[in-house]
Amino acid sequence: MTRTLARLPRPYQSYVYAYPHKTAYRPLEPRPALREVWADEPRDPLSLYLHIPFCEIRCGFCNLFTRVGAPADLTTRYLDALARQAETVRACLGTAESPRFTNAAFGGGTPTFLDAGELRRLCDIAEHIMGADLRAIGFSVETSPATATADRLAVLTERGATRISLGVQSFDENESRAAVRPQRRADVEAALARIRESAVDHLNIDLIYGIDGQTPASWRYSLDAALAWRPEEIYLYPLYVRPLTGLSRRDRAAADLAWDEQRLRLYREGRDHLLAHGYEQRSMRMFRRLDAPAAGPDDYSCQTDGMIGLGCGARSYTRGLHYSFDYAVSAQQVRSIIDSYASTTDFEHAVNGRVLDADETRRRHLLQSILRADGLSVADYRARFGTGPHTDFPVELELLADRGWLADTGPALLRLSPEGLAYSDAIGPEFFSPAVRAAMAEYELR
Ligand code: SF4
Repeated sequence: MTRTLARLPRPYQSYVYAYPHKTAYRPLEPRPALREVWADEPRDPLSLYLHIPFCEIRCGFCNLFTRVGAPADLTTRYLDALARQAETVRACLGTAESPRFTNAAFGGGTPTFLDAGELRRLCDIAEHIMGADLRAIGFSVETSPATATADRLAVLTERGATRISLGVQSFDENESRAAVRPQRRADVEAALARIRESAVDHLNIDLIYGIDGQTPASWRYSLDAALAWRPEEIYLYPLYVRPLTGLSRRDRAAADLAWDEQRLRLYREGRDHLLAHGYEQRSMRMFRRLDAPAAGPDDYSCQTDGMIGLGCGARSYTRGLHYSFDYAVSAQQVRSIIDSYASTTDFEHAVNGRVLDADETRRRHLLQSILRADGLSVADYRARFGTGPHTDFPVELELLADRGWLADTGPALLRLSPEGLAYSDAIGPEFFSPAVRAAMAEYELR
């Protein structure tokens, strides 16, 4: 049955890459000691994330925690703080059982905003202070065309990087300008060549659809330009216009039905094009080349295992608490949070966060599973919680089924249909708890 867009919820509501969203975090009073937070948490496996909040420019669509440029010595002071934080966190994990990190990532911002020597120091923090064996695990780094230089790539590959992710967004220079990310195609191609010449065997390219002036033909142009490099992964992101970002100041109605339709059309074309060129879909955004090698050994489960985040925009996850530092988008607030982080000497407590009770943990498990193309194993869910997903979320799952968003997989698996995957950003918010919804609604973006 064909359903009209008007009768369905808006397809682009919220990118649920983590639950609960950071805007549902609040100052923790009293601040829990990390030693106690981690006391009974498994040390194996863990994920390690280091956040670098600097970029050369502020892309118009970006609401990530980052600032443009860094005045003299700020990167050094930031790395000093990162080292202090790492020392403290490692001490809080204790010595009875060493943590085993099964994957590591440098994200941002743009981690390669740091120069080669600074990247070496960042690797030292991950390896020598936190104990991550970078050469033996999946180790991913985000980069940009201007900063993916040969000397930086040499440091990263020498230290074990297995995956480099390049934010291209569009190969069309007019579209890049429209998204307030001006870049020359020749520079993008040169960066891709340098990455392919490096020893990293896993390349990811990020592309965006829904940019002003983007057409099916120009979208195909970008897709083909990306495919020419045979990247192991391609992420297709819908453009969002979020408050306080560069594009939000433009005269564009966010509730623009035509724009929803444009994005849905480009999404379907992009998806079908990649599927026809030897890629499989892993989620609404992620596509992996069918013959791509794994980007490192990985026995980490994002539904159940913990994460340690270092840096002022990083989150950390335990089974019962998610925490981070303060969060902001506006340039002034971001700068002040980074300055405050760089002068922090006491990292022994969690500052901002949200406690996850049994209900929130179920919601998170369901979201982290159902938004992936391989779906949710009902047996795994039942083994973890003692109840079934249909018992816990009868209304939400009935709604998905009614809209044709669940695949016909039988009772053992809950998986989205192709149309359900297309509506992932509408499905995610359906599973937010009333408390998280309220906290997000009350959050004052700054
Ligand atoms: S999209 Fe990436 S490169 Fe652009 S401002 Fe955001 S973090 Fe920086």
